[in-house]
Amino acid sequence: MKQTAAYYRSSTQLQEESVTTQQYEINQYALKKGILIDIEYPEPAVSARKNKLNERPQMKQLMTDIRIGKIGTLLVYKRDRLARKVEEHLELYKLFMRHGVDVHFIAENEPPMRFDIFGELMELFIGVMNQREGEQINLRISDTKLNNFLRGKSIGHLPFGYSTDKDKTKIIRNEDELKIIKFIFQEWNTDKYGNMEKLAQKLKEDGLKRGKNDWTRNNVSDVLTNPIYMGIRVASFDNREVSRSVEELAVITPDEFVLAQELIEDRKKPMRAKENFNYLLSELIFCDLCEQNRLNEQEISKIIMSRKPLINHKRTKNGKIIATYECKEHNIKLEQLEIENLVYRKARTFFSELLDTHFDKLYSSHLTRNLAELSKVKNSLDKELQSAEDKLTQAVNKWIKNDNDSTREKVMECSRDVKNLKEKLFEIEVKRQKFIEVPNSIKEIKDEIINEGSWGKLPFSRKCILVKDLIHEILVDNFTVRMVFKHPYLETNEVVG
Ligand SMILES: [Zn+2]
Repeated sequence: MKQTAAYYRSSTQLQEESVTTQQYEINQYALKKGILIDIEYPEPAVSARKNKLNERPQMKQLMTDIRIGKIGTLLVYKRDRLARKVEEHLELYKLFMRHGVDVHFIAENEPPMRFDIFGELMELFIGVMNQREGEQINLRISDTKLNNFLRGKSIGHLPFGYSTDKDKTKIIRNEDELKIIKFIFQEWNTDKYGNMEKLAQKLKEDGLKRGKNDWTRNNVSDVLTNPIYMGIRVASFDNREVSRSVEELAVITPDEFVLAQELIEDRKKPMRAKENFNYLLSELIFCDLCEQNRLNEQEISKIIMSRKPLINHKRTKNGKIIATYECKEHNIKLEQLEIENLVYRKARTFFSELLDTHFDKLYSSHLTRNLAELSKVKNSLDKELQSAEDKLTQAVNKWIKNDNDSTREKVMECSRDVKNLKEKLFEIEVKRQKFIEVPNSIKEIKDEIINEGSWGKLPFSRKCILVKDLIHEILVDNFTVRMVFKHPYLETNEVVG
């Protein structure tokens, strides 16, 4: 069996599309598609403009593994994660083609990789675009100040732990100070400090000083958020953050730094988030009285007012904290457990009745009709795509022979048409899959919902999905609870444009 690989690359640790982000996106995608990732090739802090393919260790390994036939599928966030130079992009494209590697791009609007003549042309074109973008990045950072910073010529203000030599040309490590820095990160990352104030207190108790002074909360915060301690300097030019690697200055690893940031984020969340009540009906449950007001006012003033769901609240009752859904204005208070149990029971009844009575008939007639409709649309789009691809091929040929604004514009225009058509076709395919999968998902929902025992054991996130699948909205006033269900098969009626 050939294996499935994922490749991630970021040019610096701080880039928006960091290795961690790419990894997260790719994992979500794999999860959704039921793909199992066997090997990962994470390439942190490597610029594709500066480093050739074989100078990137993980890329080199990946290429070797493809050559020996180990890899069948490759997941990558975007093409520009693979290469920025057009020759390198094509080199990889041919390698994938030769060894039959199925490449998945995860980012939105990234066209799939195809292995035919047209596909190769497309890759050439995209490769040129990516290279141009890479060059523009270079251009943008050609500013002298910036260049000096990037080359390490401009030293600027240095944080605790570093100083400069006499000529102010070199950064010197102050190992005693850096020991304290390392200690601060290590202590913080134990997760035992509720806030930075407490860590500053600990430093004081241990007799550690910042120069002559005691450490303050702000000092600690400055340390914990400065990436220089993991070997990356960041400076701001024209409101744009630029970073450069200064590995020789590092005292902690990037992993330790990332962990510290996560813990800081955790501390920012309000304390009540800790005792989370998992409100299942958030955004589904509305105050009927507010709704009526809203609709009236809307009619009069034509102002579109947004809907406000009941707010999630907590109250103390007989010394115990209970969760509620409330509308303050209309004095509506619903105990969370009561209303959620009621909703569950109603949904279960609705659903099982639906299955008993209508399901087979409704579903089979809708499915047949909709599928027929979809395949008609698909056929005509296929024809359009064929002709759009032909036009693009001609346009590219003209452009290769004669590179000017007009031929280039024509290529862009044709490729936009192709892209649009492909997106439409993709949407059609998604719709088709959804129809075909209806019986399976119905069975799944049935197993999960009808049996109260298995419902109770479902994870909260799954419950949320199911509840939203079934229920359109819940309207409450002082006396009644009105549930509006989604009808999953009737909904499939309004299809195909
Ligand atoms: Zn209200």
